[in-house]
Amino acid sequence: MRIKNCKFIIILIYLIFSCVFLYSVYKPSRKIIVLDPGHAAKNSKGRIINYGCRSKSGTRELDLVLDIAERLSYKLIQNDMMVYFTRDKRHFWRHAESQNADNQDRAEFANSKNADIFLRIHCNWSVSSKCRGVSILWYKDDSKDLAEIVMGEIEKTGVIIDGIFKKELVGFRYAEKPSILIEFGYLSNEEDEKLLKDDEYIKKLSDAIVKGLKIYFEKKDEIVVEK
Ligand SMILES: [Zn+2]
Repeated sequence: MRIKNCKFIIILIYLIFSCVFLYSVYKPSRKIIVLDPGHAAKNSKGRIINYGCRSKSGTRELDLVLDIAERLSYKLIQNDMMVYFTRDKRHFWRHAESQNADNQDRAEFANSKNADIFLRIHCNWSVSSKCRGVSILWYKDDSKDLAEIVMGEIEKTGVIIDGIFKKELVGFRYAEKPSILIEFGYLSNEEDEKLLKDDEYIKKLSDAIVKGLKIYFEKKDEIVVEK
């Protein structure tokens, strides 16, 4: 009887270890998102070369996008995604001799981290103070689907939408993986400026972006499996 029990326990332990091993081998890998809060680069002379926009009241894009990226990162991490930043509060200023060199370097950083998505965070500005809303920019064909899915989720929140645009930017050109740039609103419009500082607005957009990314990954992974 004792020997039988012993055998049973050994088989049980073997099965448990096998399950743990199989799970560790086949579990879906975490998606890697490189978040790129725009601007804030200085050259070797200490001159700011990539300042970004600024509202009439003095709100700076380079501060806002860092806050937005940080809040978005919490949601991404909660949803089991891995996040890297091109700059953060401890490394506020980047170093580059030109705006193009800086944007190339950000894309190459995303490539070096093997990012599944390179997500660029910006705020917009226009000479017309009437312009408002969220827009998404994309350039390479591999990013079109991503831009459309994320925008589809943002539209569902009921926020003002500016549009979705194909635009050739240096940061897109050097990115090897899908990449989009989200303009969260216009700092040249007072109502948008208030929203950009509003926790609920950023939370709503962050939730929609995370949902969009998850839908995009599900769709993409399904296609890979079918192949
Ligand atoms: Zn910008």
